[in-house]
Formats: sequence, structure tokens, C-alpha cells
Amino acid sequence: MNEIATEITWTVLGSSSGIPSPTRNCSGYLLRFSDSLTLFDCGSGVTRAFLQRGFEPDCLENVFISHTHADHISDLPLLVQLLYNLKRTKPLYLYLPQEAITSFASFLSACYLFREKFSFDLRLRPIKEIQSPENGNISVRTILNTHLSKAATQIKEFDYPNRMECYSFLITLQDRVRVLYSADIGSLVDIAPYLGALDLLVLETFHIDLGQLEQSLQANPAKRVLLTHYTDQDRKELENYIAHSLHRQCLYLAEDGMTVNLGTADIAST
Ligand SMILES: [Zn+2]
Ligand SMILES: [Zn+2]
Repeated sequence: MNEIATEITWTVLGSSSGIPSPTRNCSGYLLRFSDSLTLFDCGSGVTRAFLQRGFEPDCLENVFISHTHADHISDLPLLVQLLYNLKRTKPLYLYLPQEAITSFASFLSACYLFREKFSFDLRLRPIKEIQSPENGNISVRTILNTHLSKAATQIKEFDYPNRMECYSFLITLQDRVRVLYSADIGSLVDIAPYLGALDLLVLETFHIDLGQLEQSLQANPAKRVLLTHYTDQDRKELENYIAHSLHRQCLYLAEDGMTVNLGTADIAST
């Protein structure tokens, strides 16, 4: 048996916030580990960006959706349609907030994507507090956050069934590379207990305070921090923050197509 070292990478497929940008896609991030791809969020433009960057659809094994705001899920039916049209045979694990499983399955049939006709098994799985893909070297811990809590009053007033599920993801690769993808959060408090010893922090900036971020990085420096999920109007402010931050050596502004190299993975092969 040989050990083959392959690169582990994180690629930004969409860095825009919930206010769509004319030049950038909505949320989507692709983790490559050997030949295995895991997608985190699938907002507008992500399917096209996936193909544009030369990724192989057949290598996609897991998709995690943090929450059901349109900028995180709007391209998901299109991605499924692509895999259907390519006559995929491998199963795809699709992890969704529990509250979205039934409605997403119905929406697929409303899009004339009938699962019974698929050439592959679309395995819909509800995200639980701690969740690992069933097929790999990747461990994903899901962290329920408060991003959707502000909807509580409307949900109660109009008697909706929504459960305000939004998750951040702490990803560990081969027990040594640690990545935290915040997705959307209520504030930095949501992810504060998980900020230690990160190789990469992928942090949304639409709902956080940059002053608090500066303090947080003082207490918990990460190797790299990718600031993302920003509007075109906020770009200048973020560039200015990075230029003046005490942690500027580790801060990067996300751009669509940007790839972060997270080191090498050792894959056993016979
Ligand atoms: Zn968002
Ligand atoms: Zn959101």
C-alpha cells in the first residue's frame, strides 16, 4: 500500500451576500480532498461557477446547506438537474436543515425533477447537531447559530412552522486540518467557542462587527481568515479594515474563484 499526497483546497464559488452582485455569485464554497468534493451552500451562480472552474461533477459527494435563505440555496435544484442530466450513478449526500427536507423534496417534483427517475440516489439527510459525511476522511461538526432568531416574532404572529435552523460548520480533515465556515450568523458570539487553532476561518461579514472581529482575532488567532458574504458597497470598508488590522497578515477578502491551499492529504492507495 502506498501513500499518495494530494492537495486539500477550499475554493470560493460565490462571495456575495444576500444582495446579489452584478459581478459575484451568491454563497458557495467547495472543499477538495483528494478526488472528493464537498460543497457548502449553493446560492445563485454556484453551479455555473463549479463548471467554469473545471471541477468534475461526478467527484461531488456531499452538499451541506447552512440555511434556506435564497442566497444559500437558490441554485440547488439546478445542481441536481445537472447531475440528473449527466446520468450520474454515484449517490449524493445532501445535508439540509431538518425543516427544509420535506419542502425541498416537494420543490424538486415541482421542478419536474422526479427522484424515482434519477439514475443516482439523492440521499437527503437532516443536519443534526453533530454530523459527519458517511463516506470519507472529512468530519463536519454542525453548530446551530442565531442567524434566523430575529424571525421569531413573525413566525409566532403568522403561525409558520419554521424552526429558525441555521448552521455553521467546523470541518476537520484527517484529524489535523481545521476549517470553520461560519455561513450566516447572528454575531461572532455564535461561533466564539470554536475559533481556536483554525487553519482557515471563512467568515461572513454581513452580520458581524469588525471591531469585535479584531478583538476576537487577538484572543484566537487563526492561520488564515477569509472575509466573505459582502456587498459591493461594503468592499471598500473591508479593504480598509484589512489594511489597518493588527492581523492583516492573515486576513484576505474573498473573491469568486479564489482558492486557498490547506496543505496535503495522505491518501492510502493499493
Ligand atoms: Zn446569506
Ligand atoms: Zn441568511
